[in-house]
Amino acid sequence: MTSPNKAAIAEAARLIRAGSLVAFPTETVYGLGANALDAAAVARIFAAKGRPASSPLIVHVASLEAARALAAEWPDAAELLARKFWPGPLTLVLAKKPVIPYIVTADLATVGLRVPANPWALALLKQAQVPIAAPSANRFMHLSPTTAAHVRASLGDSVDYILDGGATQVGIESTVVSLAGSRPLLLRPGMISAAAIEQVIGKIEAAQPLTSADAHPSPGMHARHYSPQTPLVFQIPSQGRGAYLWITRPLEGAHNIKMPADAAGYAAVLYETLHKLDSEKLDWIAVERPPDSPEWAGILDRLTRASGAGPRPAVS
Ligand code: AMP
Ligand code: MG
Repeated sequence: MTSPNKAAIAEAARLIRAGSLVAFPTETVYGLGANALDAAAVARIFAAKGRPASSPLIVHVASLEAARALAAEWPDAAELLARKFWPGPLTLVLAKKPVIPYIVTADLATVGLRVPANPWALALLKQAQVPIAAPSANRFMHLSPTTAAHVRASLGDSVDYILDGGATQVGIESTVVSLAGSRPLLLRPGMISAAAIEQVIGKIEAAQPLTSADAHPSPGMHARHYSPQTPLVFQIPSQGRGAYLWITRPLEGAHNIKMPADAAGYAAVLYETLHKLDSEKLDWIAVERPPDSPEWAGILDRLTRASGAGPRPAVS
């Protein structure tokens, strides 16, 4: 990972304060950022992404104290989780203070907050001196970007500035936990596992996956989210040209791609691999189903979503 370029950070911070859109690396994926306190700037995020107004954005801050200042309530569980996992890939959903405009939270009375563990993101947040609302820096429903080149390819001129801090490390989106209700709720699994969270605050419930496209308390719960353009499947189709992402063993006769056998390694290269394969215009991408254990839950979630509602290849 490269260390932040001072001139680039200064320019990006100036643009954020001026109401422009800046794409920047976090440890999960690249974000498309705007001043979270500026409703007009945040509206430009939705326009650039083609994202429906019903999908709330995560607000990024430089420190635990900065997060606390944006939450109307700060339960003990928030303090414990923030101390344990921040900076890091965990988003906490809490009752919001009025200073956060409703466009950021899709009209919800809650806000998703996190301190990212990436030196570029932290330098930008510190210098901009405002919280930064940022979803992934891609057109809505497309694969999240893990490099600056992915951002450029997906958003082109609709982003004012791209901070290029190299490839992201975690590789999939943050774990999202709601602490706004009577009991903690896992809204989106990620690389900080439910098991790791339970070690800190006790039992947490998993949100029911949605079956319909409407009514989504969390944008990550959209049916067809996180998907490549190429259909992704768990069973190798008998026709067409495709690639097989394997973990434990390759398949004879297939275009085999070896994936890391550990969850962290797999997540780190998953989107990069899918971006690459997408450009090969294959008929399908088949994946070996990862283990059904807590540390793989975030990966299994993204793969299942990607396979779920995309167009299916013809199978005879
Ligand atoms: P993205 O930025 O596209 O990776 O997705 C944003 C994620 O933030 C969603 O998956 C939601 O789970 C979460 N999120 C942000 N704000 C809220 C909120 N107020 N309530 C529930 N979930 C939220
Ligand atoms: Mg996204």
